[in-house]
Amino acid sequence: MSQDFALARERMVKNQLIPRGIRDERVLEAMGKIHRHLFIEEALAGEAYNDHPVPIGEKQTISQPYIVALMTEALELKGDENTLEIGTGSGYQTAILAELSSRVHTIERITSLMVNARKLLDRLGYTNILFKAFDGTLGWKEYAPFDAIMVTAGAPSLPGPLMDQLADNGRMIVPVGDRYSQELIKVTRKGDSMEQDNLGGCRFVNLIGVHGWSD
Ligand code: SAH
Repeated sequence: MSQDFALARERMVKNQLIPRGIRDERVLEAMGKIHRHLFIEEALAGEAYNDHPVPIGEKQTISQPYIVALMTEALELKGDENTLEIGTGSGYQTAILAELSSRVHTIERITSLMVNARKLLDRLGYTNILFKAFDGTLGWKEYAPFDAIMVTAGAPSLPGPLMDQLADNGRMIVPVGDRYSQELIKVTRKGDSMEQDNLGGCRFVNLIGVHGWSD
């Protein structure tokens, strides 16, 4: 079984990530290494490396592998970043950020998901992650500014507190749009100005909070 998963992981990298243009070796290596099937309930583990999102309970999903890779690559992580993630969910994206940056702060509004993710990531031996069950649209001021911010739920607009907590030359990736479809926006702070790039269409669950959607 674990051999099957190893093969599935290799195929995911080879068939889903590289042909679609993911080039960052560190991202490919992390995704080739992390046991994505552990972040999904056992009954669905066989789908872990498939080319689509998978339910993780509480009406939430773990993102499609390619979208995880695309968003992570866009953060341009070199290894020494102070990172913020909004939407811990299963903790899979958190593990990738913990492999690729030095300190990860992750916020999840659904406590049960946060608790499960923390248990698993502790068990896997990660020691550079801080967890919080809260509304992530408010950011995490005590640990700001952040060199990289990743939002893994769809927002109606760019959340102000997260813009404020982005370091100079820092990058933030956030899906922005309506409740059903969004565009992946990359924001880069250059002093007081914010550059914006559109990385393409996507579909995320709703970002719910003070600077997101209402519940
Ligand atoms: N990155 C996750 C994907 C989780 S889906 C993974 O790899 O599994 C998006 C998550 O964002 C959900 O768990 C949802 O509960 C959470 N979320 C939505 N709004 C939020 C908010 N304001 N603050 C923190 N988490 C939020």
